Amino acid sequence: MLLKGETSDWEMVIGLEVHAQVVSKAKLFSGAATDFGAEPNSQVSFVDAAMPGMLPVINEFCVEQAVRTGLGLKAKINRRSVFDRKNYFYPDLPQGYQISQYKQPVVGEGEVLIDLPGGESAVVGIERLHLEQDAGKSLHDQHADYSYVDLNRSGVALMEIVSKPDLRSADEAMAFLAKMRSILRYLGTCDGDMEKGSLRADINVSVRRPGEPLGTRCEIKNVNSIRFVMQAIEFEARRQIEVIESGGKIVQEARSNPGSVPSIFSDHPPTPDRIIKAEKEIKTLLPQKSEYLVSTSEFSDMKTRLEGVMSMRKKMEKDEAGPTLRKRQPKTTTSPSTQPSGQQTPGDDKPPVLQRRD
Ligand code: ADP
Ligand code: MG
Repeated sequence: MLLKGETSDWEMVIGLEVHAQVVSKAKLFSGAATDFGAEPNSQVSFVDAAMPGMLPVINEFCVEQAVRTGLGLKAKINRRSVFDRKNYFYPDLPQGYQISQYKQPVVGEGEVLIDLPGGESAVVGIERLHLEQDAGKSLHDQHADYSYVDLNRSGVALMEIVSKPDLRSADEAMAFLAKMRSILRYLGTCDGDMEKGSLRADINVSVRRPGEPLGTRCEIKNVNSIRFVMQAIEFEARRQIEVIESGGKIVQEARSNPGSVPSIFSDHPPTPDRIIKAEKEIKTLLPQKSEYLVSTSEFSDMKTRLEGVMSMRKKMEKDEAGPTLRKRQPKTTTSPSTQPSGQQTPGDDKPPVLQRRD
């Protein structure tokens, strides 16, 4: 879809990062429960509270859920994946870092077929899926002068599913998120409940004149309703067009999340000799494994157990509109519509929550 500006037509380019809470009784690196709505701080192990010396141990069921999702996204399953520390300072992150996968995620490239108005379909590329820990939650409404922290969510497993910048309109982005939600629900790997925060998306938006290289993107964090996807994208695209047409430049940034702090992976941390020495000593004491290896027998075992997934996926596609691949035909509109186009879910119209989640 093309948007009309003052000086030319503009094409929107959109990519989504979807955060899906993994359906699992226990957290990603601890045995604590994950039930929604439990008494604050009643589901917190020493690992989740980041007590010194605690050893995170991977929950293999979460890895299996990620593999199952990867198969449902027709994606490459990486036999070897690696966990890294992504450093942040936040009151609801007692470790001071999030354990996440960075350069070697558990799932690689895949694709999703989306259905568009008028019976057309389009293929949207998946860049990767990785596993990571969720953070706790700051509670600002419990006391007039203080904020409290609930660590029940601390350490809960999330899948971050990153799309390629293949989406060209707010409608396509909504269709993608809706399709992603139904795939996750079919597979039973995420309950898809956006109201509970089990599914939320960061939306990357840029604009360009048709045929030009990709423009600079801005990221709208933590969108937790499909309806808001529409409003956020159209608002952001309009803003960027106005900036560029009046001679300005788009600065890459996270909009609507002013409190965000840049995160740093510890690929090349400043390491004075003392720290290196201490690290070596600690390594010999703790059998900490940051690498997750699936052995051949585990993999074939997993494959047998996941056999149903591919046939389920095929059935699902058959049930839906036939995969007639659409050619992208730019359509011109003079102004963005402000009404959601019928894809909204009941009660699914909350404003975005301004929180950091990556
Ligand atoms: P980061 O961690 O910096 O957000 P990711 O690789 O996790 O980077 O996500 C980048 C997201 O931005 C992807 O969903 C991708 O499709 C999207 N994206 C990349 N380039 C553009 C662009 N020029 N315009 C819009 N979206 C983009
Ligand atoms: Mg991101």
